[in-house]
Amino acid sequence: MPTCIACKSEYATNNPRCPRCQADNANWDRERTRSGISRAGQFFLRSVWGILALTSLPLPILAILFLDFQPVASVRIGVPLAIILCFVIFLFTYHLRFSARESELLRQVRTGQPPSLALLALLAFSSALVMALALAFTLEADEKDLPTQGLIRVMMTLAFSIVFVNVTLSAMLMAIRDFARRLNELVPQPIFLQEDHLVKVVLASASKNLGKGTNLELVEMSRTERGGVKILAKDCSQPTQPSLGEANKVVDKWEIETDHWGLNLSIKLAKPKEDKW
Ligand SMILES: [Zn+2]
Repeated sequence: MPTCIACKSEYATNNPRCPRCQADNANWDRERTRSGISRAGQFFLRSVWGILALTSLPLPILAILFLDFQPVASVRIGVPLAIILCFVIFLFTYHLRFSARESELLRQVRTGQPPSLALLALLAFSSALVMALALAFTLEADEKDLPTQGLIRVMMTLAFSIVFVNVTLSAMLMAIRDFARRLNELVPQPIFLQEDHLVKVVLASASKNLGKGTNLELVEMSRTERGGVKILAKDCSQPTQPSLGEANKVVDKWEIETDHWGLNLSIKLAKPKEDKW
């Protein structure tokens, strides 16, 4: 069964309306059922960053042309290594594009504000630039001055590869950012950005889990560091005890904690029985 783009719970293939959060997954259904080639084509060709990521793959070969076909050993080894690593990074980041979109959106409710995709791309590109300059100065040196020690050669080979890997990585991160923006316009917002709705869904799930006609009502809530929710709820289904009177009515309170999708519920009784409401 497919999973809802807004809350990660399963929904029926013949009905795109999510039974848990009521999100309409019609557009998401169209996106997820497209062929792999169509999805890749849209990802890379509808964004200038996607096109740059594609063109960055054969870039290491060009390095040989600029070195008059007589590259030093570090470059000779570095070119195939860089091409392989660029392909690995390229496929790896493409595979993680949905997770990266979720992490980017989750930044809005997480504490600590992890770095954005744009900042990570900038850091990757800046470090590529610095490393490329350092390598260029080293390779421009007279042949007799070139480092011959094994360890330094290994470091130069790695540095050469990292330059191109970081260029591919920065272009892919920006392409994922464009992809996320396009997808955000098509599909429902994730439930962790709809706080009131998230609380309702969690209370309904918790009431169902507790069973026996439990009807939980929100008392207070807060967000967890990772974007989930902590809820204090009271059970409104409990009958009044006539002998105690309305003022002394005893109601169970429950502490509920979930992840940012409102899943992985942790439910426990919060207060001693004698607590009054
Ligand atoms: Zn849903």
